[in-house]
Amino acid sequence: MRTKMAIVIGGGIAGCSSAYALAQRGIQVTLLERRASIASEASGNPQAMLYPRLSGDDTASQFSLASYHYSLNFFKTLDLLPADFNVCGMLQLGFNTRELARIQKVAAYFASADWLNYVTADQASALAGIALAHDALYFPQAAWVNPQSLCLRLARHKNILIKTLTNANKLLKNNDVFEVYSNDQCIEKADVVIIANANEAQNMGLDLNLRTQSIRGQVSLVNASARSSALNTIICSDGYLCPAQQTQHCLGATFSTENTDIAIDVLDHQANLARLKVLSMTLYDDLKDQISGGRVSFRCTSADYFPLAGELCDSAALKSKPPRHNAQAASLPWIKGLYLNIAHGSRGFTSAPLCAELLACFICDETPPLPDALAGLLNPNRFLLRKLGLKRLAKTLATSATTGMTPPISG
Ligand SMILES: Cc1cc2nc3c(=O)[nH]c(=O)nc-3n(C[C@H](O)[C@H](O)[C@H](O)COP(=O)(O)OP(=O)(O)OC[C@H]3O[C@@H](n4cnc5c(N)ncnc54)[C@H](O)[C@@H]3O)c2cc1C
Repeated sequence: MRTKMAIVIGGGIAGCSSAYALAQRGIQVTLLERRASIASEASGNPQAMLYPRLSGDDTASQFSLASYHYSLNFFKTLDLLPADFNVCGMLQLGFNTRELARIQKVAAYFASADWLNYVTADQASALAGIALAHDALYFPQAAWVNPQSLCLRLARHKNILIKTLTNANKLLKNNDVFEVYSNDQCIEKADVVIIANANEAQNMGLDLNLRTQSIRGQVSLVNASARSSALNTIICSDGYLCPAQQTQHCLGATFSTENTDIAIDVLDHQANLARLKVLSMTLYDDLKDQISGGRVSFRCTSADYFPLAGELCDSAALKSKPPRHNAQAASLPWIKGLYLNIAHGSRGFTSAPLCAELLACFICDETPPLPDALAGLLNPNRFLLRKLGLKRLAKTLATSATTGMTPPISG
C-alpha cells in the first residue's frame, strides 16, 4: 500500500530532510517540533561545515564520502542564498605527525579524484588567503551552510505541516496506524513515523537499546580582523575556523560528555582559542581578544559513530524469541512503517540528508542510494542484535526493504 501520511518527530536537519524527502514524493507530512521554532537545538549553530573525514577505504570513509557528495549536490538544488550556503573549500591541515600521515595516505589513496588535492603549506596559504604553516588536504567543493536557513527551506514545503511547541513523547500502533501522543493525548495519526529527535529518541516509551550518547559542544563567535577577513576557505585541524560571515567567524568546537550545562563556558572559549593557535598563530594573535559570543548544543552520537537510520524491529519480540544467527533479515519482527534517523554526531549536515533519502527510498520501495553493506551499518537494530549475540546477522542487515543494488559511492 502506498504511504499517504507520515509523521516526523524532531525539527533538526534529520527531521527536516526526512520530511522533505517524503514530501517531494507526494506524501503529506506532519513535522512535530517541541521548541517554538525548528532548528533550535544542535541544528541551530550559526554555520555548519560540510566536509568528509577520511582515512582510506574503510567503511566509515566510504559513508563519509557518499554523504558529502550527496549533501553538496542536494543543497545545490535548493537555491539557497549565497549568504546561507557558501562553497568556499576546506583545508585539512597536517598539523601533527599523525594527521600528516593521515592526509598523505588519503591523498595517495584518492590520487585520481578531482574533488581532493594534496597541497603544500605555500599552496595552502595562497588558497586560504592567510599564511599557514602546514601541508593540507584541499577539498575545493567543501562548503558551509546556515543550518536554520537550510532547515526552514526544507520544511517550507506544500506537503509539510509544521507543528511547533509539540512534544511527542509516546507512540502506539493500532490496526496498522501509528498514533503519536503528547501528554497522554493522541495528537496525530499516520501510516509511517520517522523518529528524528536525536538524544530524545530513547524517551519515546519504546524499548530501543540505541546506545547513543549526548556530547556537549560549544562554538565561539569571533569578531573578524582586517587580516582574518581575507580568509577564503574553511581551515581545519582538531578544530575549525570559518571564513567571516557578516564580520564574524565561527570557531569550533568543544566536546564534553560530562558537562551538561547549556550555558556558555569561558573555559570552552579558551579551548577553542587553543585550537585556533594550532590553525594559525597569526590569526590567534589577531583574534584572541575578539570573542563576542558563542552557542552550546548537544550532539547525539552512537557507540560506533555511524548514524542510526532505518526501520525498527520490535525489541520485545526480538528479546523474547531471538532469531537464529542464520535467520534472514526479512524474517525479523520489523515494525512496518516505524523508522529512525538519529545519531549524526559531529557531521549531521553531511550525513542526515543521505539517511533521509535512504529512508524515503525504503518507504516508497525505490532503489536505495547506498549499497546494502553501508545501509546495513546504519541499521538501528544493530546494537540490540549484537547484544543478543547475533553479530553476523547484525552485519548482514540492511533493512527489511533493501533490494541490493550497488551504486558508486563517490560523485
Ligand atoms: C558545537 C557543535 C558544532 C557542530 N558543527 C557541525 C558542523 O560544522 N557540521 C556538521 O555537519 N555538523 C556539525 N555539528 C553536528 C550537527 O549539529 C548535528 O549532527 C545535527 O544538528 C543533528 O541534527 P538532528 O536533527 O539529528 O538533531 P537536532 O538538531 O538536535 O534536532 C532534534 C530536534 O528534535 C526536537 N525534539 C526532541 N525531542 C522531541 C520530542 N519529544 N518531540 C518533538 N520534538 C522533539 C528538538 O527540539 C530538536 O529540534 C555540530 C554540533 C555541535 C554541538
